[in-house]
Order: sequence, then structure tokens, then C-alpha cells
Amino acid sequence: MYSVTKRIEFCYGHRLLDYDGICKHPHGHNAVAEVEIRTDALDTRNMVCDFSDIKRVVKGWIDRELDHKMILRRDDPLVPPLQALGEPVFLTDSNPTVELVARLIYTLATEQGFNVVRVTVWETPSSFATYSGE
Ligand SMILES: [Zn+2]
Repeated sequence: MYSVTKRIEFCYGHRLLDYDGICKHPHGHNAVAEVEIRTDALDTRNMVCDFSDIKRVVKGWIDRELDHKMILRRDDPLVPPLQALGEPVFLTDSNPTVELVARLIYTLATEQGFNVVRVTVWETPSSFATYSGE
């Protein structure tokens, strides 16, 4: 079994609803996503997959959809005023925790054909969440 892992840095803002702690207030993170892809056998280039393909597809999506966006639950009262101001938001159906962000990236990468083992998202240098499928 071989695996490769690509690290992708991005920034996002969010807040948590129905939550009693400081994260109920809008704030931001300098996040690092680690996307691990695996295979039983290497391809003809002796690769699991090309790092530049992960970068193009997964980092491309993160850059477009999540980077420098506010990630907010769809019913968050902040959504209408931010949208009215033309600020970029990424809407989620449930609380936008780092666990959910890891799952979003896992789902995107899997849908794009990568054999994803796990996605870990570091929200701070000491806190991370991992999603590795159902
Ligand atoms: Zn946070």
C-alpha cells in the first residue's frame, strides 16, 4: 500500500451557532488541509498520483470555494447582511465546524476521482479534525 499526502493552506472565517463558547462569535483561521490519497499499486510513472493533480483539483476548489470566505450555516442571521454587502460566503447545512470542513474536502476529492484515505484539517497549530469516510 502506498499513499501520498498533499498539504493545502487556506484561510477561512466562521462562527458556530447553538454553541456556548467563544466560537459563537465570528472569527478566522489560517488552516492547513492534509489530503491523503492511496493506492495498492503505483501507476506507470511510479506514482500514487501526481501532486500537481491534487493541487489543481483540490486546492483549486478550496481556493475558489473556501479560501478567504465566511463559512456559515445556511440559517445564520449573518448571511443576508454579508451577502447584501457583497461579501463572499460559503453556506453549509449544518454547523461549520472544522470537522465539517474536513468532510467537505474529502467529499469533493472523492467525487473528483481520488482514492482518498483521509482529510485532516488543522484549524490551529494544536487542533485538527480528520474525516476518513463513513
Ligand atoms: Zn473557529
